[in-house]
Amino acid sequence: MEREQYLAAIKPRMPEKRYIHTIGVMETAIELATLYGEDEKKAEIAAILHDIAKYADIEWMEKIVRDEKLDARLIGWGSELLHGPVGAYIAESEFGITDEDMLNSIRFHTTGRAGMSRLEKIIFVADMIEPNRKFDGVDRLRKKVKKNLDKAMSACVRHTLVFLIDTKQPIYPLSIECYNDMMKRED
Ligand code: GDP
Ligand code: FE
Ligand code: FE
Ligand code: FE
Repeated sequence: MEREQYLAAIKPRMPEKRYIHTIGVMETAIELATLYGEDEKKAEIAAILHDIAKYADIEWMEKIVRDEKLDARLIGWGSELLHGPVGAYIAESEFGITDEDMLNSIRFHTTGRAGMSRLEKIIFVADMIEPNRKFDGVDRLRKKVKKNLDKAMSACVRHTLVFLIDTKQPIYPLSIECYNDMMKRED
């Protein structure tokens, strides 16, 4: 399938704003793939599909978690935590994506995880800094990613965790594992 076909397939599954965000993630992910020597086509397609499950029914997503034996800890966390792993399931079952690195990039785009690949980091960071994102510090992250992908990834994870703590939200175990792994690698 080509870019236009993927875009046509995701468009009716999300509101206009989310579609525009997705285009931003796609463009940013391709730029980062070029910059860091990653496969641009993989980055493009993983980016297009990353939020495919964002508006799926929660009950249905929890059923997928049970039936497909996805991470059982996901039950009860709601759609923000479910849409990555269930998105990877849709990418595989509906779109025939078999590349494990692309599937992991979709699966872990919200929480990250320990030992992320280059493509996973590209999708995670692109999701956070795409041109339509507006939050304090986003321009600093945009500059950072041009210099060092790992440092930008680390900064993005820390930004998300600080936000979650400030807003008194629970932190998913994978998010903490991702943070700890990033800190081990910091010099
Ligand atoms: P989006 O789908 O493009 O909006 O972005 P993400 O998939 O990266 O994140 C979706 C939401 O999940 C955001 O509001 C994050 O703050 C939130 N989120 C990320 N990690 C965690 C976590 O560990 N715990 C909780 N409760 N929320 C998280
Ligand atoms: Fe998402
Ligand atoms: Fe994200
Ligand atoms: Fe997103």
